[in-house]
Amino acid sequence: MTPVQVGVVKETAAGERRVALTPDAVSRLRNAGVEVMVESGAGASAWFPDEDYAQAGAAVVDRDALYALADAVLGVGQPPPERLRDGQTVIGLLAPLLNPTLMAELARRDITAISLDGLPRTLTRAQGMDALSSQSNIAGYKAVLVAANAFERFFPLLITAAGTSKPASVLVLGAGVAGLQAIGTARRLGAVVRAYDVRPQSKGEVESLGAQFIELTSVEAGAGEGGYARVLSAEEQAAQAAELAEHIAKHDVVITTAQVPGRRPPLMVTAGTVKSMRAGSVIVDMAASDLGGNVEISQPGETIVTNNGVTVIGADNLPAEMPTSASSAYARNISALLLHLLAGGAVRIDLDDEIQRGVVITYGGSVVQEATAKLLEATS
Ligand code: NAD
Repeated sequence: MTPVQVGVVKETAAGERRVALTPDAVSRLRNAGVEVMVESGAGASAWFPDEDYAQAGAAVVDRDALYALADAVLGVGQPPPERLRDGQTVIGLLAPLLNPTLMAELARRDITAISLDGLPRTLTRAQGMDALSSQSNIAGYKAVLVAANAFERFFPLLITAAGTSKPASVLVLGAGVAGLQAIGTARRLGAVVRAYDVRPQSKGEVESLGAQFIELTSVEAGAGEGGYARVLSAEEQAAQAAELAEHIAKHDVVITTAQVPGRRPPLMVTAGTVKSMRAGSVIVDMAASDLGGNVEISQPGETIVTNNGVTVIGADNLPAEMPTSASSAYARNISALLLHLLAGGAVRIDLDDEIQRGVVITYGGSVVQEATAKLLEATS
């Protein structure tokens, strides 16, 4: 049987420096009987040159050859749909809940779309494929470095002959994977850290990292399905933002990470709250997106300094700012998923498998993933 041919694309989204496979991952896949093609220059921005891929046994090809020959196209984000061949398979972080109509179009073209962000997060056997976690972990770390860089004072308590500096106070809103990594990183830099999450289970995790958990009285516990938060009503969000305001004003640095899958991120920091912060404070909004972020005035990809001297950073793609580590982790995740999908040397779709039911978005001409199909139904 001819071995399956996968093709690694050079990402085309603005600012995206990650690559779906590293040379190491290419070697591992080849050992498992997978042929790999890599678009020339695909890893260059993450410091993986073409020669390293060639040495690992990949064929380095141009873009046209890659899309023409690959059975499965591997990317980090969604590759340009017009490039994909009808009947091809595409694997990446495709954000199907944000792009349901594109998924419907791929289905019409009999393209099998497989998205790592649909993975069931709580299955132990899927952990090695959990790209949302690996990338959030990197983003949480980088968010603190970005904040510390913009904060023009020390993070740690420092006692020197030239005086004493108090430790920075950092507030992390949303204590999922990114938030917990941000807490740990800020603590390692010596800051005093507090955190809040609407899921009460996160309290123990926050405290185990040496941070203080903030409890709000205005919002009921908000655990939803699959470990994610539930969507808060507009009234609950307003009450939450109002109660958070007094905490936020007392902190030097605020890092927001709150997300609800496929929805506009909850608005937690209003423009008025930003006005109440001290000059020199810094906010990093990791949920900043075209849909809006956790901070009313943040803009994705932009840094704003307000009239009252607060720096607001719309950090929409932090993993792309640490592309080497982010690509290495992502390559492990996508390789693990690919190997899980292979049977007898070919990608074999089996919707009875719990992992596949989450990640396979389109197959056999239809949108098969439940959440995406429901969303399409609701919007048609
Ligand atoms: P996420 O990116 O969807 O959201 C980040 C955080 O924001 C979450 O902790 C969420 O509770 C919080 N949030 C959402 N709305 C909020 C609001 N209005 N106010 C305050 N906080 C709000 O989450 P994630 O980091 O992807 O993690 C999601 C869940 O998956 C977590 O429960 C995590 O522990 C779990 N998880 C489990 C495993 C595993 O068991 N192997 C692996 C990874 C993640």
